[in-house]
Amino acid sequence: MSKKRTKPYTKRGITRVPCFRCGKPSTQQWQICALDNQYLGVCAECDIGMNEVVLSFMLGESTKDYYMNKYRRKNEQRSYTLIKEEECG
Ligand SMILES: [Zn+2]
Repeated sequence: MSKKRTKPYTKRGITRVPCFRCGKPSTQQWQICALDNQYLGVCAECDIGMNEVVLSFMLGESTKDYYMNKYRRKNEQRSYTLIKEEECG
């Protein structure tokens, strides 16, 4: 594990951080108490996976799907916005 990040990454900075799980460019950041609350970059795919695990645990499988579908739609919209921002410089 590299140096622990104690401050959140900036919107631009997070894109330069490899995903903590798989190494792809990060789009999100997570803090996990058991990992000393350090800020960890995660890619879009792993962020979805982590949300699914947490929601399954917190809400159960049947309720989880409702929120995950909403989150996936929001995420697709956000990816589109990020691409548009890059195109505009
Ligand atoms: Zn990943």
